[in-house]
Amino acid sequence: MQSQISIQELDSRWLMSTYKRQKPLFVRGCGAYLYDESGKAHLDFVAGVAVCSVGHCHPLLVKRLQDQTGRLMHVSNLFLTEPQAKLAARLCELSGMDRVFFCNSGAEACETAFKIARKHARWTKGSHAFEIVTLYESFHGRTMGALSATGQPKYQEPFEPLVPGFKPVTRNDLDALRSAIHERTAAVLIEPVQGESGVFPVSVEFLREARRLCDEFGALLIFDEVQCGMGRTGRWFAWEHAGVSPDLMTLAKGLGGGFPVGCCLAKGESADTLQPGDHGSTFAGNPMATIAALTVIEIIESEDLLANAAEIGRYLQDALLTFKADGLPIQEVRGMGLMIGVGLQEPAARDIAQHALELGLLVNPVGDETLRLVPPLTLTREEAEKAIVMLKQAMQSGV
Ligand SMILES: *Cc1c(COP(=O)(O)O)cnc(C)c1O
Repeated sequence: MQSQISIQELDSRWLMSTYKRQKPLFVRGCGAYLYDESGKAHLDFVAGVAVCSVGHCHPLLVKRLQDQTGRLMHVSNLFLTEPQAKLAARLCELSGMDRVFFCNSGAEACETAFKIARKHARWTKGSHAFEIVTLYESFHGRTMGALSATGQPKYQEPFEPLVPGFKPVTRNDLDALRSAIHERTAAVLIEPVQGESGVFPVSVEFLREARRLCDEFGALLIFDEVQCGMGRTGRWFAWEHAGVSPDLMTLAKGLGGGFPVGCCLAKGESADTLQPGDHGSTFAGNPMATIAALTVIEIIESEDLLANAAEIGRYLQDALLTFKADGLPIQEVRGMGLMIGVGLQEPAARDIAQHALELGLLVNPVGDETLRLVPPLTLTREEAEKAIVMLKQAMQSGV
């Protein structure tokens, strides 16, 4: 198609080559479907990488954003605005946290948490206490601090030297955790469900032990819920499943339902650590971003999407497990709610994703051996059944 060729040419000529693009040129979205320029429908199990939590172009979200665009788009944090204050209150109400700092992305949310952890430790223990214990196979973003926290050398090596102080340990290794935390530890940083590396839930024992050790050593427990938060796992926040609550929590991806917005929430002392002049962001928490997030929360509540995510997620996981009985090369099915990782027995993830794309289903291969399924939380049973049929067909032709 003519326009696609020229868009593709423009893209590859004028953008930095940071992304490997796939073919379809999407021009429209509706609910769980994306439509390419030929009009072909694709059932979207990527959802902008766990971003489009209430589906594409949800009518209420569109309306609220249209209204806000016509009224007030940006003011700056030098002044008060209504949606920002209301969103902060709602997020604290939902999470039990005390205060919020808004930002524009997941990486910035993590940077905020690191700054709070460092300043807090400096107050309480002195300037030598700046270590942050992290996990291998984690992902926290691409800015220098977030990259330094990301326990994946392949992302880090080209950009060394890293920000000092991040100490990765192996997920669910209690002894490694115990020996990594000491008096100089400012914080422990964990994604309760590791998303980017293939949907690996962290064990309840590990989360509990992290909480206990942070309390013992006066360190802050940071949960990065950028991907697993905001209803994705069938609860507002993934830590609710384990009953272990953090001192700091980061959110982004699903928070704005497609509008860029992130935040760092804090509880107790850590909520009062940042003072005027310590931190800020020009765009952060602007009326568009915050009205989007307020509306996403309203939709999740009014459409009972937490229960839906839990129920449809269970259906998908059960259906995927039957593939195994049918001789398809599935090793295991991981995750919670609508955050699902399908571990394969062979490095076929990219091929399967390609076959699925041709059939009209978008899934995200993570490495060679995992498929990540993160559809909108609005996914219906019927759509889930369709996806299962297509995924099965894709796996049968992919192996
Ligand atoms: C995606 C992600 C980030 C980074 O978010 P950006 O908005 O891309 O900066 C951080 N943490 C987790 C857990 C993520 O999944």
